[in-house]
Amino acid sequence: MTIDVTDRRAVVASRSSRECPACRRPKKAGFAFCRGCRDSLPRELAVDLYLAIGRGYEEGVRKAFEHLTREPQSQPGGTS
Ligand SMILES: [Zn+2]
Repeated sequence: MTIDVTDRRAVVASRSSRECPACRRPKKAGFAFCRGCRDSLPRELAVDLYLAIGRGYEEGVRKAFEHLTREPQSQPGGTS
């Protein structure tokens, strides 16, 4: 499943899930994204993921998510 990043509660809930919302690979609870996704973020986006919830975290996740999902990644077509 994926998340609606405009929904603050979904963003917050996603942090404690074990699936990366951007690439759907497993991630550690307590992080917004998996290690690979976090490593691929530009620094200015990555730092916002360390903000407190309610103090920019949700916005940071939304920007990072948009960056990660806009990036052309692996499968071009999709599985049907
Ligand atoms: Zn990921």
